[in-house]
Parts: sequence; structure tokens; C-alpha cells
Amino acid sequence: MRKYKKISVEKEILEEVYCNICGQKIKKDNHEHFEDYLHVEKVWGYNSNKDGKKDDFDICQHCYEKWIKTFKISI
Ligand SMILES: [Zn+2]
Repeated sequence: MRKYKKISVEKEILEEVYCNICGQKIKKDNHEHFEDYLHVEKVWGYNSNKDGKKDDFDICQHCYEKWIKTFKISI
């Protein structure tokens, strides 16, 4: 037989996200869900000059559209 007791656990939730290009806050809808945006995380590997370095950034939809238009090869 097992007896359980309830405990409170503190956890972190994502509260705000800012676009790294324009600096604007990513908006939320009425249900506290973020408008869609691009989140990138990259841990650089051995064959780079940033071995072990972690980069991460967020881009809003507006800046994403502008950014991909600068690509030589379209996506
Ligand atoms: Zn932006």
C-alpha cells in the first residue's frame, strides 16, 4: 500500500518573448497563447570556431518574412 501527500512544486513558465530583430514583444491571444514565431537554438559543434557555444534567438512573423526575402536561394 502506498500513501501519497500533495506537495507544491514551483515551475517556470514562458511569460514574454521578444523578437531579436525588431525588439517588439510577441503578442498573445485571449487564451495566453503566443502568436506564432520562429525560435532557434543551436549548439555549435567541434567543426566550428564556436565549439560548445549555444546560440538562441526568436523572430516575429513580420521580421521572418523580411529576413527570408534576403536569402539568395528562396526557401
Ligand atoms: Zn520582429
